[in-house]
Amino acid sequence: MRRWSLRTRTLFISMLFAALIAGGTSVATYLIILDGMQHVAANAAAAAVAAARSMLVVAQDAAIDVAPAGEKGDEAFVAVRRKAFLNQLAASFAQAEPSGASLVFYDENLRPVWSSSPRAGTPALNAQRAAVQSTRQPRDSTVQAPPRMLGLVSESRLGQVVTHLPVQLSGGATGVLDVYYAPAAEEAVLNEIRLPMLLLAVVSMALMILLMQTSMAWVLGLVDDLRRGADSIDAGRLDERLPVKGDDEIAALAQSVNSLIERLERRSDAQARFVADASHELATPVAGIRGYTSILRAWGADDPRVRDEAVDAIDRESRRMARLTGDLLNLLHADQGLVLKTERFDLNALSRQQLATSASRWLEKDIEYVGPDDAPLAMVGDPDRVEDVMSILLDNASKYTPIGGSISVTTRRRRDIVTFEVADTGQGIPEKDLAHVFDRFYRSELSRAAAEGGFGLGLAIAKSIVVSMGGEITASSVVGQGTTFTVRLPRGRA
Ligand code: ADP
Repeated sequence: MRRWSLRTRTLFISMLFAALIAGGTSVATYLIILDGMQHVAANAAAAAVAAARSMLVVAQDAAIDVAPAGEKGDEAFVAVRRKAFLNQLAASFAQAEPSGASLVFYDENLRPVWSSSPRAGTPALNAQRAAVQSTRQPRDSTVQAPPRMLGLVSESRLGQVVTHLPVQLSGGATGVLDVYYAPAAEEAVLNEIRLPMLLLAVVSMALMILLMQTSMAWVLGLVDDLRRGADSIDAGRLDERLPVKGDDEIAALAQSVNSLIERLERRSDAQARFVADASHELATPVAGIRGYTSILRAWGADDPRVRDEAVDAIDRESRRMARLTGDLLNLLHADQGLVLKTERFDLNALSRQQLATSASRWLEKDIEYVGPDDAPLAMVGDPDRVEDVMSILLDNASKYTPIGGSISVTTRRRRDIVTFEVADTGQGIPEKDLAHVFDRFYRSELSRAAAEGGFGLGLAIAKSIVVSMGGEITASSVVGQGTTFTVRLPRGRA
């Protein structure tokens, strides 16, 4: 059972891609804008601090200008000057009204005694203020913002920078002025772009998934067509072909499958032909045997001449059947791939031996058999199989060469190829038959008429053996002059 169909897998992959690309782009854009806004906020905060400093100077001067009753350092004296200071500060602030900024004044005991807006100020930073008071040096503190990415899904917060400025009033009063800058405008920008950005991300994600799925559905549709086509072809109907549409990879695949079916069809046709031919060849001797058996039954008991003739014929036909079944078995073995020996042997010696065997078998034809030189020609391979091939060729040559003719075997070696030729001075093979002599059950017109003709399997067997040894076999012939079969084999290494 398949766990994940191709469709599910591509859906999953396209979703992942879309999320990565659209999501990544949105996050990166948000971070860039956030950085920019932080920069703007820092500039605005610096401007607010500068404004506060000048307000501070003006207010301090205003406090000096009032001349309260009493001695410097008196509580009442200090209170009057502080009041004058704060009044001026409030007036300057009201006049300038720096946007986003607020001021809080802490007295020497770090109590907030004045603030520009009611909710400004936090007691949490008192330690910082105390430090500013004792060192008389301004300081910055940060009010922490939430993690940056949170702004993608909820309200954006940029955090705040608070600057604590030391204050020294003539008359002995001291204090700390806190300058706050709340980046509300910058946060508003971020809040405004969030929704359109998220919408854009979702829409582009959906579009990407849609696009990828549509293109995938198109490809899978083509594959499905191919599958349906392949399903409709069964072993018995190899004449059907897959539809080849267009000029793309799917069409190339369909073409490859079609040529595979073509090869299978050719093979299946060849097999059918082979079985039909083999049955036909077997039918002839079987019919002969049955005929002579009937004759034997009817007249054999009374007529010894008829009996002897019938027994001879039955013997002849059964030998023929035995030869045919032997040939068929040889062919089958050669087709199934032979287990080949790798032995070093002398091809010239083997040729001379085969020629001698043929000469003794075809004594009555008075043929001249000519062998190769006495010099040895060493090669490595299976001598038994080489013998089989040579015996088939010499047998044919002897069969199809008239009395008094001549048959020769010549051998040669060039680099890693060993060649042997079996040439005769026989009837020859007509041009149109030459291309088919290696086909199974093929017999040329000339030999079909002749009595010595076999089943047309010898050369098919020889070719099968030669091919399984990695070699090749060819034939050339001139009708009336003779035929030459050439076998090329790899010389082999021990
Ligand atoms: P067969 O048993 O009929 O000889 P082969 O496969 O050995 O079958 O040969 C196929 C056909 O090739 C033969 O029927 C014959 O017509 C032709 N042939 C083969 N060898 C020769 C040859 N030396 N001279 C002429 N014809 C040949």
